[in-house]
Amino acid sequence: MPRSTVARIDLDALRKNYQTALNRAGGAQVMAVVKADGYGHGIGPVASALDSLAPKFAVACIEEAAAIREAGLAQPVVLLQGVHAEADIDECARNRFEPVFHSFQQLSWLERLEARPAFWLKVNSGMNRLGFHPDELAKVMGRLQAMSAEKGLLGFVTHFACADDPDSAMTAQQTSVFEKATSAFPGLMKSVANSAAHFHPDQPMFDWSRPGIMLYGGSPMVGKTGPELGLEPVMSLEAPLISTRMVPAGESVGYGAGWVADRDTRMGMVAIGYGDGYPRHAGTNTPAAINGQRIRLIGRVSMDMLAVDLTNAPDSKEGDTVELWGRTVGVDEVATCAGTISYELMTGITGRVPRQYR
Ligand SMILES: *Cc1c(COP(=O)(O)O)cnc(C)c1O
Repeated sequence: MPRSTVARIDLDALRKNYQTALNRAGGAQVMAVVKADGYGHGIGPVASALDSLAPKFAVACIEEAAAIREAGLAQPVVLLQGVHAEADIDECARNRFEPVFHSFQQLSWLERLEARPAFWLKVNSGMNRLGFHPDELAKVMGRLQAMSAEKGLLGFVTHFACADDPDSAMTAQQTSVFEKATSAFPGLMKSVANSAAHFHPDQPMFDWSRPGIMLYGGSPMVGKTGPELGLEPVMSLEAPLISTRMVPAGESVGYGAGWVADRDTRMGMVAIGYGDGYPRHAGTNTPAAINGQRIRLIGRVSMDMLAVDLTNAPDSKEGDTVELWGRTVGVDEVATCAGTISYELMTGITGRVPRQYR
């Protein structure tokens, strides 16, 4: 019998969240961002579940795009980081991968090739990670014309630095820099919106939005949970209770003996730890659930197990299933307790945890 530690993936919830993104996209088309193994949910099953809904997928790199083809899907796949080597451009052309070019190095690779893919240009509107500065765009367009590549250009992409904070002025500022930079080149498509931008009432969405985290039910907004934004949890992380005991008042639990019982406490051990991707930084009082009842972690998370306080769940017994996050305990709540974001928790679940789909 395999260990029953498992990440259950609700593909219906994923599809509902895609529909929510579409409803909030203001008429834009929605490319589903499935990088990092579908944010830890499994890129093949996730992309397949969205096959009838999503007209395009987006990933970070070419290996991830290949995984979408291996799953038998035919949609164009946008490579958000472009390509890392000249030979990859050929592969893009053959497979309907659409690289987002962000550097003159990538353009010089394009110059040397005859078979060219459709592609996008990344504009640096202020995040200062990747992209051409607005002042460079005329030069870039001139180079594309000189190599007769301008016909392959689909449009322009930019990415927001602070869209998770609705009070930040930076999103509107980046939008205006982007609009101004691209207005000299009409007739091309534009794409700006990550998940968070779907929750800004006045955000222009242009032609294509690019939601990631919201498809998986994680919140893109600081201080809000996914369910508070109308999103459905997609992943339920579950593990069995493998032992229970009474810890007498004054005794400690686990490594470092950091948690000491202030009264006789019924506690249990759960078969999941940081070796499975559960965050080691989740301390005492991080919520979990058993049989629908909320409980809390106590002491340090170990590699293969963690301890919970079962005071709230007196009927719980060995073999019962503990939900680490899912429908009873939100992934965003656990992320807050661990000092991180749901993105890191979902993508951090390791290969030791099987994904089960329904
Ligand atoms: C990851 C990524 C997205 C999706 O971001 P979310 O916050 O998960 O919606 C969109 N665009 C780019 C360029 C990205 O790298």
